[in-house]
Amino acid sequence: MFENLSDKLDRAFKVLKGQGSITEINVAETMKEIRKALLDADVNYKTAKTFTDDVRQKAMGENVLTTISPGQLLTKLMNDELTALMGGTTSELDLKASPTIILIAGLNGAGKTTFTGKLAHFLKTQKSKKPLLVADDVYRPAAIDQLEVLGQQIGIPVYANRESNDPVAIAKEGIAQAKQNGNNVVIIDTAGRLAIDEAMMVEIENVKAATNPHEILFVVDSMTGQDAVNTAKVFNDRLDFTGVVLTKLDGDTRGGAALSIKSVVNKPIKFIGTGEKMEALDVFHPDRMASRILG
Ligand code: GDP
Repeated sequence: MFENLSDKLDRAFKVLKGQGSITEINVAETMKEIRKALLDADVNYKTAKTFTDDVRQKAMGENVLTTISPGQLLTKLMNDELTALMGGTTSELDLKASPTIILIAGLNGAGKTTFTGKLAHFLKTQKSKKPLLVADDVYRPAAIDQLEVLGQQIGIPVYANRESNDPVAIAKEGIAQAKQNGNNVVIIDTAGRLAIDEAMMVEIENVKAATNPHEILFVVDSMTGQDAVNTAKVFNDRLDFTGVVLTKLDGDTRGGAALSIKSVVNKPIKFIGTGEKMEALDVFHPDRMASRILG
């Protein structure tokens, strides 16, 4: 994960590691290298600039007060600032209501259906919840099949209505069934599109209005870099989602989405997907991710 970015940051640090003190010149040089590394990782330009300006200011400010070496000081500052950039603290799901309604949104192929299964498995095994899944894609019968297969695999019921083409009605039926059967979490897997589409947005806005979800999770493929951030912005403007799920972090992803999304949409990353298996889901911890990036 993020090997390329880690290598480049490590090289940028070398400028300072050999120095006895922090000066305006060597800090400026290091920040230039760090900014380049961030841009190469597909971090949004404004985010990269603000980030390096902040780190430079803090490095110059703290230098006089500290006895640690410039290399150590920079490592600490970078760790703190990367953690803050990714949201600071871990953001938990709000699971107080019974049933808790969770709406899953995103483009086709982002990993929505896979995440729906992973989340249900996580809630069942780690939080002792009794979830019900709702197949709310009325356009692709294959999507219903996929969710049913996952549900069977993890031992979790799936509500589907293949006769209906009304996503609002199906979502409501699913919630009613959950109440009847004592399921305390309902996860609604909605239809995506290949690209942002007005009809899709209106549809999911309607499902939101009819179901009053406690959580709306936007699922996005981390491999798509800045596109992921732009898509997040459009979905957030329409849905005001509560959190982001970054998928496919096990792949050759450069890191731009993980580092930029929080500062662009101001919503926390709540989970990361790290594989195709149902267990390949992690709660997102900004501090752990920062340490990982810094190697
Ligand atoms: P949807 O169209 O948004 O519902 O996307 P799917 O859940 O069908 O996922 C699309 C593809 O991405 C499938 O082949 C999944 O197995 C794969 N996928 C989903 N999440 C991950 C992940 O975290 N890592 C990897 N490597 N593949 C994933």
